[in-house]
Amino acid sequence: MKANYGYMDGSGEYYITIDTDPCNDCTDHPCVAACPVGMFEIIVDDYDDEVAAIKEENRKKVKYDCAPCKPVTDRPPLPCVEACPADAITHSW
Ligand code: SF4
Ligand code: SF4
Repeated sequence: MKANYGYMDGSGEYYITIDTDPCNDCTDHPCVAACPVGMFEIIVDDYDDEVAAIKEENRKKVKYDCAPCKPVTDRPPLPCVEACPADAITHSW
């Protein structure tokens, strides 16, 4: 399942999408440690699977929380995207 966390406002759409299908087979959940802001958590979903999610308190401000990882020029690979062995994390901006 693809889960979207974020929001849109007058300046654009700011969503982090997690494809949770591979998460249940991901043993050490490297996305959690990779994010310098600590935005990821592991939750048990409605199907009793352990999946990654963005913490509630970060969902309405992902644009600002992710800003240090996203300089306007020379943007490096995002730590969360790089850490995920399943390529399950994408950002809309
Ligand atoms: S690293 Fe990727 S597959 Fe593993 S829990 Fe995080 S998002 Fe899911
Ligand atoms: S871009 Fe940076 S701050 Fe945003 S979720 Fe990924 S690792 Fe965390």
